[in-house]
Amino acid sequence: NKFVYFFGNEETEGKNSMKDLLGGKGANLAEMANLGIPVPPGFTITTEVCLLYLEKGDYPTEVIDQINNAISKLEKVTGKKFGDNSNPLLISVRSGARVSMPGMMDTVLNLGLNDDTVVGLSKKSDNERFAYDSYRRFLTMFGDVVLDIEHHKFESALSAKKKALGVTLDTDLDATALKEIVEEFKSIIRNSTGEDFPQDPRQQLQMAIDAVFNSWNNQRAITYRRLNNIPGEWGTAVNVQSMVYGNMGETSGTGVAFTRDPATGDKRFFGEYLMNAQGEDVVAGIRTPQPISMLQQTLPESYATLEKIYKKLEDHFRDMQDIEFTIEDGKLYMLQTRTGKRTAAAALKIAVEMVEEGLIDKRTAITRVSPEQIDRLLHPTIDSQAEYEIVATGLPASPGAAVGKVVFTAEHAEEMAKMDEKVILVRTETSPEDIGGMDAAQGILTVRGGMTSHAAVVARGMGKPCVAGCGSVTIDINACTFSVSDVTVSEGDFVTIDGSTGNLIIGKVELITPGVSGELDTLLEWADEVREMGVRTNADTPHDAQVAREFGAEGIGLCRTEHMFFGEDRIPAVREMILAEDTEVRKAALQKLLPMQKEDFMGLFKVMEGLPVTIRLLDPPLHEFLPKHEELADRLRALEAEGGSAEEMETVKQVMERVESMVETNPMLGHRGCRLGITYPEIYEMQVRAIIEAACELKASGMDIVPEIMIPLISHVNELSSTKKDLVEVAESVMAEKDCKFDYLVGTMIELPRAALTADQIAKEAEFFSFGTNDLTQTTFGFSRDDAGKFLPFYVENSILEDDPFAVLDQEGVGELVRIGIEKGRSTRPDLKIGICGEHGGEPSSVKFGYNIGLNYVSCSPFRVPIARLAAAQAVI
Ligand code: ADP
Ligand code: MG
Ligand code: MG
Repeated sequence: NKFVYFFGNEETEGKNSMKDLLGGKGANLAEMANLGIPVPPGFTITTEVCLLYLEKGDYPTEVIDQINNAISKLEKVTGKKFGDNSNPLLISVRSGARVSMPGMMDTVLNLGLNDDTVVGLSKKSDNERFAYDSYRRFLTMFGDVVLDIEHHKFESALSAKKKALGVTLDTDLDATALKEIVEEFKSIIRNSTGEDFPQDPRQQLQMAIDAVFNSWNNQRAITYRRLNNIPGEWGTAVNVQSMVYGNMGETSGTGVAFTRDPATGDKRFFGEYLMNAQGEDVVAGIRTPQPISMLQQTLPESYATLEKIYKKLEDHFRDMQDIEFTIEDGKLYMLQTRTGKRTAAAALKIAVEMVEEGLIDKRTAITRVSPEQIDRLLHPTIDSQAEYEIVATGLPASPGAAVGKVVFTAEHAEEMAKMDEKVILVRTETSPEDIGGMDAAQGILTVRGGMTSHAAVVARGMGKPCVAGCGSVTIDINACTFSVSDVTVSEGDFVTIDGSTGNLIIGKVELITPGVSGELDTLLEWADEVREMGVRTNADTPHDAQVAREFGAEGIGLCRTEHMFFGEDRIPAVREMILAEDTEVRKAALQKLLPMQKEDFMGLFKVMEGLPVTIRLLDPPLHEFLPKHEELADRLRALEAEGGSAEEMETVKQVMERVESMVETNPMLGHRGCRLGITYPEIYEMQVRAIIEAACELKASGMDIVPEIMIPLISHVNELSSTKKDLVEVAESVMAEKDCKFDYLVGTMIELPRAALTADQIAKEAEFFSFGTNDLTQTTFGFSRDDAGKFLPFYVENSILEDDPFAVLDQEGVGELVRIGIEKGRSTRPDLKIGICGEHGGEPSSVKFGYNIGLNYVSCSPFRVPIARLAAAQAVI
């Protein structure tokens, strides 16, 4: 069995496609070496070894042998010797899982140093300062990562030393100072662990490898995996790589860069570097890094090489790359390349531009932007009309605006979010421990850190607004306040941040959500060419319908007519209709509603001209329209106090009695939907008359109107046949009256299990089906949507259910009923048109499922239409 894969320009055993085995970092190091790009040689220990080790707590001898062989080979290739006192080979030990987990796993640099080898390194390089700088770095990382000593112990000792010497930067420390620091660090290690720092390089290596493997199961890694749905069974690989030194002086340095701007997607090389620095100095914000363009002036030759390499990498991987490089005394080495994380806006721009550049095809572009990213693009920005004062400006680290209450800890952010509070997490800087809190917050504000800081990278990935490095903010963690200019803001106060500009504003500012434009239009048009499923919208008003149509909706899949009944001008007539003691009075009240409903439908039909409009007849239990009992009791008391007339009081009492008589124990399973239509046929008759009259009138003016009448809550075919018979009669007679003839459909919602199971019978009557997955979820699980909040979050947190089934369609249960419904429905009516409405219509995984089981269309809220268009296209690819 092969457990160790060598890489380097002389001999490379792995390649890019071996990510599962070598991890992303290892596979790409190998691939770069294969491309002839200068990579310090090294080897990768596979993810298989990680799993073996975590299971058994030990390594098979084969693994140990293969590691020893690889070290020998590395010695041969580099001409250095591991543990040698005159020319020591130093190595880095780097973790690397299949997908990148930023900051989750830790790296140790300069491994192999000890009290003897450091002398050799010093002599060999003729640079004592460099040797001891490397040693103190190694001790810090080894102490922190491998020995689990708190990082701040080393930090404090270092700061104290700088203070004592009156210097501010690490680079100001000379060899003598660094030697003293090395001694201090060793005693920190001795005091913290009770043992001396291990001088034997072989032992150091073994301990570092163990630590990387163990870190796969540390809390931060587990949290990150949970948030990103990464399976624990993947494991991580370990990369052991010969060191190159960015800390050798002023012709050395290290940096990180993106081949395109990760915030905007602009085609420009973007990055930061530090001279005389190593490893993570750039991201850690120890010194302020230089923009990459400066490198062109400082070290033009290295820059030119870097430019060639980054272009080569982008051409090869056909995607934007995030790279790490180190320059050792003028010579450039690549240390990492991976697909760069980017904002939603950048993902879109890069995908569209790469098609235009001929790098990728349209289908690939469609897969490069996730539906969630589209969602983010539709996220709020600050209303340009709003008045506000900017109190500070930091870096625009992740776009979008957010409003929330200030909190200072990740735990507090999570607590507040659980209580449905919107919060802004304010931190000096963030670290991987904060991930849960960042996820819970609306946005993140940090005092320190650059565009590649932890906060910035993670926020961009999450699509959260983030303002980073807002240096004029001072946090007083004990007082739970922060101050900026001359304002003090306490925990719980509202602030607004704008991650697109970097601005911080005290208080709440009005936010607005942008529309679809430019590249998004282009990508969604490509998606439309590919997708096979229609996308409609759920809309009840001409305004919503208009928004949805601009977002690309191809009709209305669900118009909930009850929403029209709540209008201030109609509610009196609606109540009159409900409270009517007999049919005649009810009909009279319905007569008042008829012209209003007709107008509603004309509004919708006009906006959706030429496209199908599915109108659902009245669905909710009638008591929803009536005044509440307490409200009536209040009115009665008021009348008594004012000395109102006996007659007036009698009316209120009667209404109260009627309201009481309509109270239901389980209204959602009660007198609603088609059950209303069957017991009070005049309600549906009025609605159908309004629909057909509206259509006739618009037809007469030359418009193309496509009405679809939908009857809700059918459980038995007889409910549908009797209702339908009535309604068709009304429709035909209206058409005769108006002397106007056109096609319309009568169909039903399938939202009860019995309907799905008898869909073959129902389809004989129904000309279309629309799965009402909200009610179907409710009735399949027996979960009341209104009460599920008491236990569903607990279910999800404790993995009893993977997702909230009201958000993500339960494919095994509810989805199976949908599948059966489709199959049975089409068995008696092969051309049955079938859609889905409800929350799931705009949820990407549910859309994909819908495509696979043969839906004709999905219908979702207007802002989710673009998401559904993309998800439907991705389902095909
Ligand atoms: P992360 O996944 O946190 O980025 P890395 O393994 O990439 O961790 O390493 C952390 C830092 O150390 C990076 O800046 C990387 O470029 C640097 N580094 C890793 N290995 C070497 C090496 N062999 N020589 C020089 N620098 C290295
Ligand atoms: Mg790291
Ligand atoms: Mg890295």
